[in-house]
Amino acid sequence: MRVSKLFMPTLREVPSEAEIVSHQLMLRAALMRKLASGVYNFLPLGLRVLRKIEEIVRQEMNREGAQEILCSALLPSELWKESKRWDVFGPEMFKLKDRNDREFCLGPTHEEIFTDIIRNEIKSYKDMPLNLYQIQTKYRDERRPRFGVMRSREFIMKDAYSFDTTWEGLDESFNKMHRAYNRIFRRCGLDFKAVEADTGAMGGTGSMEFMVKSDIGEAEVVFCTSCDYAANIEKAPTFDVELEINEEYKDVKKVKTPNSRTIDELTKFFDTTPDKFAKTLIYRADDKVVAVMVRGDRDVNETKVINHLKCINLEMADEEIVKETTGANVGFAGPIGIKVDELLVDYEVKNAKNLIVGANETDYHIVNVNFGRDFEGTVGDFRNITNEDRCPKCGGKITINRGIEVGHIFKLGTKYSEKMKATFIDEKGEERPIIMGCYGIGINRTMAAVIEQNHDEKGIIWPVEIAPYQVIVVPVVMKDEEQVKAAENIYNKLQDIGIEVLIDDRDERAGVKFNDADLIGIPIRITVGKKIKDGIVEFKLRSSSEVIEIKEDEVVAKVKEALKMS
Ligand code: ATP
Ligand code: MG
Repeated sequence: MRVSKLFMPTLREVPSEAEIVSHQLMLRAALMRKLASGVYNFLPLGLRVLRKIEEIVRQEMNREGAQEILCSALLPSELWKESKRWDVFGPEMFKLKDRNDREFCLGPTHEEIFTDIIRNEIKSYKDMPLNLYQIQTKYRDERRPRFGVMRSREFIMKDAYSFDTTWEGLDESFNKMHRAYNRIFRRCGLDFKAVEADTGAMGGTGSMEFMVKSDIGEAEVVFCTSCDYAANIEKAPTFDVELEINEEYKDVKKVKTPNSRTIDELTKFFDTTPDKFAKTLIYRADDKVVAVMVRGDRDVNETKVINHLKCINLEMADEEIVKETTGANVGFAGPIGIKVDELLVDYEVKNAKNLIVGANETDYHIVNVNFGRDFEGTVGDFRNITNEDRCPKCGGKITINRGIEVGHIFKLGTKYSEKMKATFIDEKGEERPIIMGCYGIGINRTMAAVIEQNHDEKGIIWPVEIAPYQVIVVPVVMKDEEQVKAAENIYNKLQDIGIEVLIDDRDERAGVKFNDADLIGIPIRITVGKKIKDGIVEFKLRSSSEVIEIKEDEVVAKVKEALKMS
């Protein structure tokens, strides 16, 4: 491809709308443009990368025996009502009606659709195991679309679904996908880790997320420094550790705390540390109101709360509900006299002594409050694990890092097949529900994650396998016929052996061409300049600052070697 003809509107300035590097570079390197919040159009270079990632995914899925199909994005509501997810998705689902007032949605995921296909076509144990997948556009009206295609409202997902007759079969299908995902993300040049993930309250027997290490990741991942334990923070458990506290139970006392409602303000007011407090957070859980108590220096783990309550939706209560349940303004909730359907008490709050809590009265707190003596509740693990906790597996020291979830593999079990009556006849002639797994990869998010991990101040550094082009040939002076001729010659020779190559034939200064080549991240640059008189050109890898002079007729061999082709 000739750069003079390529639709590649690169930007010199950093677009102000983009907060993170990958988003900035995807705009600057002309990979994509924004159409609306969380909705993007891909330009030629971006589309080439997307297609390459898709192709890696396809190859590795096929290699494990999965078969590609393609479903519609326009999905009738009936299937979602059968699985009871029409309402579960809530505002995240794009819903619409046709001219006859029939309800549809734009698919946010496809479990129901694949289950429906299978229940219509599969009758016998002989038809399984089976794994079907698609690479297709998904729609989710995310609460906070951000970071470009990292969290967008339209994105391409590879979603696979496995169908087995036994639980051992499911394990095997799951392990195959685990293997495929490892190969896929390795080929994309990512530094990643498969970590344990939450399976939710509604069933499912195992789940792992593929996390790319990155500070901008929205997920928090717990790693053990001694063993191989790694888990999403949503999943990592904490335990009931009874501490020896050398302190007498003291008498409860109400204290006026005007203008102090946050833990920060209160630690100053009482001149103490956050662990001496218990905070009481009020939530709406479906049609109930619940309160959750954790220590002042801890965070509520909403996934654990959802799993305990077996509820579908959990959100912080609004001001009105807080006032109703506590009889006070926001910031003074506490366990004594609160009017909620259930009070959840984290282990640490149960095990602490003489805590400071809200008094359920505006401008007041109560000191020396103790679980069992002054209030009761459901005790359990309701908080996030912290650096102070020990590894749930070996007791070692843990660290918590941020990660980008690029893939997710999940043992669904019979969750959908039971609800949607997807059954088969087993060897004994008995009817049983099909055992399922589901496996997703975000193609666009993977692309952004690769850029987060592979860039420098000049631009993207594409790993060879997913680069939009592998080589860029740069004639330095377009008016120099000898340079242009040699560059064209190299360009043709590389094309002859099937290499994807750009020639920057624009009548621009060399500096402009080099900047663009660096920005768009082409792995190999061949520069044809003055020394062509002596038959010499420059060879440079994007990932290195070293410039090597080579003979013109060595270019093909050198490129092949760098791309590891025979
Ligand atoms: P997240 O917790 O980040 O919202 P999720 O748990 O909703 O992700 P899944 O439903 O498991 O994600 O979807 C499978 C994959 O699709 C994810 O691992 C991710 O790579 C991708 N994905 C999900 N939501 C988005 C989005 N809004 N934009 C881009 N990719 C997404
Ligand atoms: Mg999501």
